[in-house]
Amino acid sequence: MARGSVKGNYFNIGDPYSEWCRDKKVYMIDMDAVGICKLCKTPLYLAETCFDRGQSFKATTTTEALARLSGLPSFLVFYSANENRKVESLRVTQLTPEKGKETLMLPESWFEVLELLQEQHYPHCLKKAVS
Ligand SMILES: [Zn+2]
Repeated sequence: MARGSVKGNYFNIGDPYSEWCRDKKVYMIDMDAVGICKLCKTPLYLAETCFDRGQSFKATTTTEALARLSGLPSFLVFYSANENRKVESLRVTQLTPEKGKETLMLPESWFEVLELLQEQHYPHCLKKAVS
């Protein structure tokens, strides 16, 4: 928000590809977060993430559509951080497969959710250790 036009505020300043697409009217968005398996890099979830300024809305249409196409869970994550850039709390809303209610979470709780997604993936992991 520091510089640039409204156009620059909505699309990454300094990202010539985004600007080229916009000029050509072939639209694209950046994915904020694709959670991946720590071993095989398979996608585990999709997320729209945003610094928490008390807002109640962020567009999630494309993320939800992509999540449904891929069969991945998806989330809207507003996070707050302290002056040392340490995440202190998160407001998380599950978008798919079922729309959930916004939940205020501490980082440890959100970490447990992300660990659970990793654990649920392990039986299908392409690089799991053979026992
Ligand atoms: Zn894996």
